[in-house]
Amino acid sequence: MSSSSGKSTHILVIPYPASGHILPHIDLIHQLVIRGGLDITVLVTPKNVHFLNSLVSLHPTIETLVLPFPSHPNIPAGVENMQDVTIDSCADISIAFGQLCDPIIHWFRSHPCPPIAIFCDTLFNSWTHRLVSTLRIKTVGFMPTNAHFFLNCFSHLDSMPSFANETILKTKDNWGLLINSFTELEGDEKFNGIKGFMKHDKVWGVGPLIPIKAGDKERGGPSSVPVDELMAWLDSCQVDKSVVYVGFGSQIRLNRQQMEALGNALEKSGVRFVWAVKEPAVKNDHDHVVPLIPSGFEDRVVGRGLVIRGWIPQALILNHRAIGSYLTHFGWGSVLEGLIGGVLLLAWPMQVDHFSNATILVDQMGVAIRVCEGLTSVPDSENLMKIFTSSIKEDRPERIAWMKQREKALNAIKKGGSSYKAIDDFVTQLQS
Ligand code: UDP
Repeated sequence: MSSSSGKSTHILVIPYPASGHILPHIDLIHQLVIRGGLDITVLVTPKNVHFLNSLVSLHPTIETLVLPFPSHPNIPAGVENMQDVTIDSCADISIAFGQLCDPIIHWFRSHPCPPIAIFCDTLFNSWTHRLVSTLRIKTVGFMPTNAHFFLNCFSHLDSMPSFANETILKTKDNWGLLINSFTELEGDEKFNGIKGFMKHDKVWGVGPLIPIKAGDKERGGPSSVPVDELMAWLDSCQVDKSVVYVGFGSQIRLNRQQMEALGNALEKSGVRFVWAVKEPAVKNDHDHVVPLIPSGFEDRVVGRGLVIRGWIPQALILNHRAIGSYLTHFGWGSVLEGLIGGVLLLAWPMQVDHFSNATILVDQMGVAIRVCEGLTSVPDSENLMKIFTSSIKEDRPERIAWMKQREKALNAIKKGGSSYKAIDDFVTQLQS
């Protein structure tokens, strides 16, 4: 696919520096590149370059623009990713990135074939208008969440902190908007509601974006354990859908009480499991990280469960036939990976969009099970133990209903499906 002039169209992609945002940008870029006709440059700061390795090795024509992460009084020196701070730093990271406007403008002006559009996380809406007015280009917003969350934000603008309010309001200024969801899951009316707010039709549901195959072993970074050993352990699980996976995305750190409750439940349930643990950056008086995994836990579950500290190839795990259920914070990226993997979701929503994601999937659709709620809440161990045990049963109604949604998702992304056509339509409109 190429523009009406037959020339390739250049776009600059600017992902927000958080794993849950960079990764779906990468998967979307892959979809755009395979459509043909687009030249793509991706802007990242030095510590996030590794996210692009597999994408660039798959598509060597993709250019990388690396600019230094600008300093900000509230962001510790050396931090370039939300993974290393809490959700409270979301606005400051965006504001810090905004200082890249001048270097971006300079890069545009010195480029022999400058982009006609920036394709950019909506979390950057507060400053991208400067690029639009100075460079006279289009902005395409991409938010790796669903239409329901967006609509929810639109109707609560007055009660939002000023950064969130501005970010959402300025979505209206985007030439177009892409959403990592699909109409068959959420219904046309949600997407139409967004079009009504935007006052135009250039809103596309392009999900679920599938993790690119080339990078699945190193998606988001090298695994902290040998991937082949992890896969061999899963392969050794005889029964399909019999393993519980526990993970809370890239940002959430559990406290001691939560770890204990979870550890107890896993131990007593007798289920096989993989537990992805992110150790908190809490150090003791001797400057050592204080381990929060219950004492002796790993010895007691040896052979039956794996505890993995650090980065884990999550998408690969969720696609393994042995995984049956997934206790998750309900980040949208993880939800969609669970959907594609055909894994029953056990919801423990913690912050931001997790709550509204649970509202749709647990309360409205009945396709997932809520087990706890809130960043500091401690689940009841007994109850959680029972949920773990029953979550791997084949005949759970939530599992059956979720598998029907999976079918719809796979149809949406295959050739001729709604999301597949939406990406084609977006590329055509961008080039016209
Ligand atoms: N992820 C991963 N390994 C980890 C932690 C997270 O691959 O150890 C990936 C996960 O597969 C997902 C993304 O990071 O693609 C997290 O996005 P999500 O929206 O679920 O949650 P967030 O981390 O933004 O809270």
